[in-house]
Amino acid sequence: MASTPPSRQKLTLPAGGRRLLLHSCCAPCSGEVMEAIIASDIEFAIFFYNPNIHPRAEYDLRKASNIAFAAKHGIPFIDADYDVAAWYARARGLEHEPERGIRCSMCFDMRFERTALHAHEHGFDVISSSLGISRLKRMDQVNASGVRAASHYPGLTYWTWNWRKQGGADRMVDISKREGFYMQEYCGCAYSLRDTNADREAKGRPRIVIGHPHRPDAPPSSSS
Ligand code: SF4
Repeated sequence: MASTPPSRQKLTLPAGGRRLLLHSCCAPCSGEVMEAIIASDIEFAIFFYNPNIHPRAEYDLRKASNIAFAAKHGIPFIDADYDVAAWYARARGLEHEPERGIRCSMCFDMRFERTALHAHEHGFDVISSSLGISRLKRMDQVNASGVRAASHYPGLTYWTWNWRKQGGADRMVDISKREGFYMQEYCGCAYSLRDTNADREAKGRPRIVIGHPHRPDAPPSSSS
């Protein structure tokens, strides 16, 4: 007999916060996070700043899917554009680091620093990110970067809520299928694309094709 998924908990922002700026890495990860926040009547906006995503065609596909879902719910979407030269400058020397290593800490730091700056300049008192919902990410690593970024601004808090809890990780997959989101097959940067393709080749699997058609039976395999 199928088990009943746990019902959603009504969430409140930490530290008495009133407005949330949610960094979003992609639609599959942020779909469940957005629905949890909407169900909790929390005022928020989406901040899309992901200069790590390579190539540009992949970046555009991920962003378009995220924009469409935000528009469907009437949630403001802030497009911080494709600051790719700055990302490569910070990644120099880290090209061969493994996923979940120091290159990823740099990547989170860069994206959350920009999120925190925008929050500070536009009256948001809490920031968070959809990055932590993916089981392929180290939540402690994501949270450490978020807390570090928020600490530069008095009155700004990084919300370390575990979005995977209480059925969140399963709903993330269900929502992605229901909405027909574009499903990425690697984390995001050129190095993760290279390494994922090498792993697939070693296993006799075909290389990733950017912009492959959505497969409704496939869960998101990673997140940016
Ligand atoms: S593997 Fe993912 S998190 Fe790590 S640097 Fe590349 S895009 Fe960023």
